[in-house]
Amino acid sequence: MSHVLVPTTLEELWTFMAENPDAMIYAGGTDLLVKIRSCAVTTDCLICMERLNELKGVRVEAGEIIIGALTTHREMLDSPIVQRDLPLLYNALKNLGSPPIRNMGTLGGNIVTASPAGDTLPPLYISNAHLEIRSRNSSRRVPIESFILGPGRVDMRPGEILSQVVINKNTRFMVHHYEKVGRRSALACSVVSMAALMNISEDNTISEIRLAWGSVGPTVMRFRDIETFLVGRTLTVRGIEDAIRKVQQSVMPIDDVRASAAYRREVAGRLMLRLTGYASSR
Ligand SMILES: Cc1cc2nc3c(=O)[nH]c(=O)nc-3n(C[C@H](O)[C@H](O)[C@H](O)COP(=O)(O)OP(=O)(O)OC[C@H]3O[C@@H](n4cnc5c(N)ncnc54)[C@H](O)[C@@H]3O)c2cc1C
Repeated sequence: MSHVLVPTTLEELWTFMAENPDAMIYAGGTDLLVKIRSCAVTTDCLICMERLNELKGVRVEAGEIIIGALTTHREMLDSPIVQRDLPLLYNALKNLGSPPIRNMGTLGGNIVTASPAGDTLPPLYISNAHLEIRSRNSSRRVPIESFILGPGRVDMRPGEILSQVVINKNTRFMVHHYEKVGRRSALACSVVSMAALMNISEDNTISEIRLAWGSVGPTVMRFRDIETFLVGRTLTVRGIEDAIRKVQQSVMPIDDVRASAAYRREVAGRLMLRLTGYASSR
């Protein structure tokens, strides 16, 4: 690697990108620099975005929560807005990496890496998050589900960056559940993860539910037909057992060094059993 450019304004970033079209941009570097060190990726020029304060922080604007793409996982965990209004994302961030990774790694980096195991992705999918993609002269908003195309593949064109993540503030759920199964409890990529947002009626039936799984397909998987099937069912093991089987038939896991496809399929369904713990004992 020969040189690293460090813009301090967006204007400077656009200029560096235009002058160095083959340069690779990075934020915290916890994904990209690891790949460069292991020679999985090579480049002559890097553009480090960590001083672009314009793309950092969490704020509320016109009923939307806006998170700058360069906001670190630690900064999100410390944000009163994330703690109060995005408990699902908060729960996922607590499980992400280690303190040094959370201090350096960013939300934008986690999204653009587009790993099926990315911990922020299942919460963002079921929060119906939108992404703002910017270039020097344009800006577009896309749902996260259409931005992520496959492992490591996103809908981003040359000259574009992910600038911010936008989540509607007015979605209210009683249950914000995130669980990650890894090979050990700390500093482990997920073998399977599941995020859930759920409302429960007084008679313990599910009135609204959104579910997403990580590490059981090429991207995060959400099955809207199973969500619809679950509405009106009692939140008991009996009440959701058919849905568990449907999930096990629908996921598309692979065998890899961390787990077998069969294990992932089994666990993806069984993680739903945790939801019965939210039923009230009235
Ligand atoms: C030891 C270790 C443990 C880890 N544990 C976990 C874990 O438990 N869970 C998890 O989800 N991840 C984990 N990771 C992966 C990584 O830390 C996260 O994905 C992190 O959020 C990446 O953010 P970053 O800013 O460091 O990305 P970078 O390395 O800076 O960038 C990653 C990719 O995204 C692109 N990119 C970054 N920001 C932008 C932007 N704003 N616009 C356009 N492109 C951009 C870069 O070009 C690069 O291709 C781990 C990594 C390590 C090394």
